[in-house]
Amino acid sequence: MLLRRLREAMAEPVSAQARLDKIVVHIASNMVAEVCSVYVLRDDGRLELFATEGLNREAVHLTTMRSGEGLVGRIAETAESLALSDAQSHPAFSYKPETGEEIYHSFLGVPVLRGGNTLGVLVVQNKARRAYSEEEIEALETIAMLLAEMVASGELQSIVHPGNKIALRLPLALKGAAVADGVGLGHVVLHEPRVTIKQLIAEDPAKEEARLDAALQSVRKSIDTLIDRGDQAGPGEHLEVLETFRMFAHDRGWLRRLREAISSGLTAEAAVERVQNDARAKLQRRTDPYLRERLHDLDDLANRLLHELTGESFVVSQDEMPDNAIIVARTMGPAALLDYDRAKLRGLVLEDGGPSSHVAIIARALGIPMVGEVDNIIDLCEQNDAIIVDGSTGDVQLRPQPDVEAAYAEKARLRAKRQEQYHKLRDEPAVTTDGVAIGLHMNAGLMIDLPHVKETGAQSIGLFRTELQFMVAAQFPRAQQQYDLYKNVMDAVPDVPVTFRTLDIGGDKFLPYMSRLEEDNPALGWRAIRIGLDRPGLLRTQLRAMLKAGGGRDMRIMFPMVATCEEFDRAKALVERELTHLRRHDYKMPSSLKLGIMIEVPSVLWALDEMLARVDFVSVGSNDLMQYLFAADRDNRRVSDRFDPLAPSVLRALKSITDKAAIHGASVTLCGEIGGRPLEAMALIGVGYRNLSMSPASIGPVKAMLLALDAGEITSFVTDLLAQKTGASSIRAELQAFAEAKGVPL
Ligand code: PEP
Ligand code: MG
Repeated sequence: MLLRRLREAMAEPVSAQARLDKIVVHIASNMVAEVCSVYVLRDDGRLELFATEGLNREAVHLTTMRSGEGLVGRIAETAESLALSDAQSHPAFSYKPETGEEIYHSFLGVPVLRGGNTLGVLVVQNKARRAYSEEEIEALETIAMLLAEMVASGELQSIVHPGNKIALRLPLALKGAAVADGVGLGHVVLHEPRVTIKQLIAEDPAKEEARLDAALQSVRKSIDTLIDRGDQAGPGEHLEVLETFRMFAHDRGWLRRLREAISSGLTAEAAVERVQNDARAKLQRRTDPYLRERLHDLDDLANRLLHELTGESFVVSQDEMPDNAIIVARTMGPAALLDYDRAKLRGLVLEDGGPSSHVAIIARALGIPMVGEVDNIIDLCEQNDAIIVDGSTGDVQLRPQPDVEAAYAEKARLRAKRQEQYHKLRDEPAVTTDGVAIGLHMNAGLMIDLPHVKETGAQSIGLFRTELQFMVAAQFPRAQQQYDLYKNVMDAVPDVPVTFRTLDIGGDKFLPYMSRLEEDNPALGWRAIRIGLDRPGLLRTQLRAMLKAGGGRDMRIMFPMVATCEEFDRAKALVERELTHLRRHDYKMPSSLKLGIMIEVPSVLWALDEMLARVDFVSVGSNDLMQYLFAADRDNRRVSDRFDPLAPSVLRALKSITDKAAIHGASVTLCGEIGGRPLEAMALIGVGYRNLSMSPASIGPVKAMLLALDAGEITSFVTDLLAQKTGASSIRAELQAFAEAKGVPL
């Protein structure tokens, strides 16, 4: 039996080269091939011939090719096996005279894979033109697994051509979506640790079959239980995914491949790994998002099976967590992140998880740097690898070189220093050099946000996004839970006004436990106040919870996405109904109540007189207002950065709001992301904004900016620029030049 013979060869106490030489001889004779060669990928991207039976031995460690070059390079590049009866007629064939391979016609090459990485290529060749059978291809792929272990063990490092290194575990610079600001240096903690397979080759195939059957049985049972329970047991375990699991777990082709792998001599766990490697190689190169999703499902199922077979734990225990943990996961629910010890968390990297994912909200609230949408990160890293996350740029450095690490350590240090300086500004009044007071407020949405009020010196919570409680919960929060949250919030910051915004769901914000409406244009669809008015029961429950919680206090309630005055009137009528109800039942009334709207829908810009006459306050939701003004989806990376909010058109629109508010004596705040960026905030002060609400981390930088700003100067500067009608799509450069000339820190 070949695998047994190979295992013996691997255990022999000989040099790495001698071992490899022996292995190729065994493979060649077993496959009845004249040639067997092993190529290993180096860190310069070239494949080096490491051993051969049949080709010219002088070529060993001398012949190299680029990944992508020739048949071998092509296999490395595509990570797919290639079987040809007439290799030389293949367009990718490239002839290396030193190897003497011109006399061999048939060619079978398979990638040496570990995780999703190609470590090398294993080839057999025959003189005669022959077709390799499916079994032969699979047998060679199984043998390649053994070679992968050998490469991964590091022993081949000693025989690589002098001056070179094997590519395994190279430093990698990856790019994803910048999700939560900050720089974190630390070590990889796989949210779902991978199983390390210790025993590849089995003594007794029958026993392995039985082990596989038992494990399958138990995994199937646990999936059925989860499905029967009908709820999601945790993140990523929604019904649909479970159904897919069930489908795979009973899939005949998959089961047959597992059994074949066992009958070739592998242990049950090695068989699972082997079949999964295959599936991964096949599916990974597909761009079809549906197929890639299925690969994830299959990966998860294989992972469950491996855990079942080896008995290894599914979660990292808290004691095993390094002090500087960077969690790496495919996807993660908000609750799972909260389960980790905050003191040890330095960052989060996800394969999914865009900026508006729910876990992103938590990461930002906890101040943990996060990068999302990093392709393939799980396969590329190993437990405990060194890793750096830059949540401000979306960069991830895996196994960084010392100079890269030093640069990021410096960046992190500078940030910490700046943070300290901002902290010192906390108690200074936010007043411009010419004495104009600017209200700096904070956006929040969860209890974990509240300590930031004190830390930053925010004057109020200018926007409390009540939907966050709904988004991170596993089930719809009941009236009592809503009341508890609102009351706890006001109790936690008794001297600080809180502007509660009613439920803003729909569009990009969906609730995991509610079925999603299929809408062609969700951003323009049934969302926020539209849902609230169509389902008054929902909105009234929330309003009642708020008003009860605000008994004896000053209350501020704000409605999102209001497009017409009538919508506000109807919402206000619901509030009044609830007040009547509370009064009738002798509840304590809020001592004052102010009602306002978010200005997010452009129609309001041309109804300001009527709107400002009815509301107590307005707050500009520039995130949504921008997306509607430019007709550019805020979450679609292709278009979201296409237009600059510092365009004259936008600034004129924003100025029309403050101009009208001045006439009506109305209170106006801006609570979108632009209010938290110093340069944008400077322009906003220039068009009349005196109150900005922003994420806590932005308060320091914005305050530092305005303490050095002359409000009169920036106002005339922006007013003049806007009057010039330049037709420019942005006045960013002019504003930057202004800040530089005036020494305003950005
Ligand atoms: C906005 O749209 O600017 C806003 C503050 O609301 P959200 O980001 O929650 O939609
Ligand atoms: Mg909004």
